[in-house]
Amino acid sequence: MTDVEIMAAVERLQKLLPDVPAHRQEFAKSLIHQYSTKGYMSEKQAWWVEKMISEAGTPVVEKIEPTYPKILAAFAEPLRKGATRAALRAGAVHISLAARHPGTLYVKHEGEYAGKITPDGKLKRASGINPAALLPLLAEVERDPKEAAIAYGRKTGRCSICGRDLTDPESVARGIGPICLQLLSW
Ligand SMILES: [Zn+2]
Repeated sequence: MTDVEIMAAVERLQKLLPDVPAHRQEFAKSLIHQYSTKGYMSEKQAWWVEKMISEAGTPVVEKIEPTYPKILAAFAEPLRKGATRAALRAGAVHISLAARHPGTLYVKHEGEYAGKITPDGKLKRASGINPAALLPLLAEVERDPKEAAIAYGRKTGRCSICGRDLTDPESVARGIGPICLQLLSW
């Protein structure tokens, strides 16, 4: 780095100081202080200045756990009625009431148990389940559970809720059976 580059970098670090991680604050300040008093910095120190700038400039992405309030809400009605069997099929995902754990939903992916959605709307993934494959599918259902159910019915010719073949032309067009349409809350 040239002297000019170092000067610009130190200025930039000074501005970004509040965003420098706590454990490097003192170090950053001492480098800035040294440079402002001595007007000199070693290559290694300059490297650290650059590193701290890049760290401070990259906001830490908060890991937000997805929640599934709409999927849970879709099952509110069967839950209220004390139903033990209700399911929603969408693509490779099968979501069903956990009969012995009211308020919890079981999630299967391609026929395999993939985890459960707990009453607070969080997903507890089963071990060995690849989130990269499952989460986008669940996100799509969560976006609009009814639309996902209808899309499944139209694509497969089977009702998303009960899994039976849709035979009645109206049901085929609607993508969901008439009784099942009333079963979930949407
Ligand atoms: Zn049905």
